Amino acid sequence: MKQIHVAKHAPEAHLVKGFLESNGITATVRGEFLTSGWGELPVDVCSVWISDDRQFDRAQALLVAFLRGDFARQFHGQHWRCPKCGEQIEGQFTDCWKCGAARSA
Ligand SMILES: [Zn+2]
Repeated sequence: MKQIHVAKHAPEAHLVKGFLESNGITATVRGEFLTSGWGELPVDVCSVWISDDRQFDRAQALLVAFLRGDFARQFHGQHWRCPKCGEQIEGQFTDCWKCGAARSA
């Protein structure tokens, strides 16, 4: 188990996880259920971990390209509307960030 990415918020962590898994790399998001302790907004610190250390180097190479925008550009402009809550979602997301519904649902 190795940490590969620290995300700014949960949707980013899940985006990275989904991207890695689409490339056959098993990843886990940690930390998304932490709270500030004051009953307010959750602490937006999430990290993505690679389950199999042997996949780490490949995962890192893929992720570097991904975060640099090589993959994001493929999705540019492809917004979609959540079938459940109607939220407009950026093309790189496969699930609604607001209600969690899947794009194809
Ligand atoms: Zn939604």
